Amino acid sequence: MRGNGFRSCVLVMVAAVTLPRGDRPRAAPVAARGIPEPYLTIVAGNYREVLEGKALSSALLRQYFNKCMLDVLEHYHVYECWVCVQCLHDKEGLAGNAGDIGFGFGAKPASCPVCKGTDSIYRVGTFQARAQRTGEGFENAFLFLMRQRWRLQLDKSPPLTQTHDFVHVGGRYAIEAKGSLEFLESGNQPRLNLPRAGLSRSDTLKKAESNWQEFSRKKPGVEFFIVTNVLPKSKGYSKDLLGRVVDVTDPAALSRFAERLLTFDR
Ligand SMILES: [Zn+2]
Repeated sequence: MRGNGFRSCVLVMVAAVTLPRGDRPRAAPVAARGIPEPYLTIVAGNYREVLEGKALSSALLRQYFNKCMLDVLEHYHVYECWVCVQCLHDKEGLAGNAGDIGFGFGAKPASCPVCKGTDSIYRVGTFQARAQRTGEGFENAFLFLMRQRWRLQLDKSPPLTQTHDFVHVGGRYAIEAKGSLEFLESGNQPRLNLPRAGLSRSDTLKKAESNWQEFSRKKPGVEFFIVTNVLPKSKGYSKDLLGRVVDVTDPAALSRFAERLLTFDR
């Protein structure tokens, strides 16, 4: 009769002994603050699976961030797909029926497998939703990681803040997040590479730069940082701007960044 209670007591003791400091479950509510569902389940689950109790490496950090973003796309059914508009037009009035209409997942083919048309195939505009959803996946993954790993005192910016995504609770720094996927992967579809991810897209870097300038006009003296999963490629930017950019998939750079942010709490 005492078997179950005894066993769970032993389990609790083993868990307390084997979990490394900083990764204990009772800290989870703090790391989770302000992270809504489904993001919390996704980022906490991936943290546990990929990073918890492990030394950070570039491969693991990439895996964590990519998995968080891919899982968000999966949750919201933001799949890359295409459809043949000629087929749709020919079957007008049959909306909702599959019929003989050319469509599919992944990159669009050169010609429609049904009507053989070559100029009637279009990507479905899910890429519009993708930018927003992967951005949110990246932000929540970053927030959870920084709090869980380093106990950083940061929160999401108030709604409608344009220039930055996170604020230090003591008001000493702000962080803008610019992360996105380098590839898409879903089910048995072949991997689809997405060029210009993160800050490698020059428009994204320009936006981050203007956010920083606007922010420093409004809040002079408050530090501003930009986090991304892909560093900028262009060299035509000031050292002052590039010095504020942190690659979250570089374990040494990320740890140095976290240590620096911790100094603002002292
Ligand atoms: Zn067709």
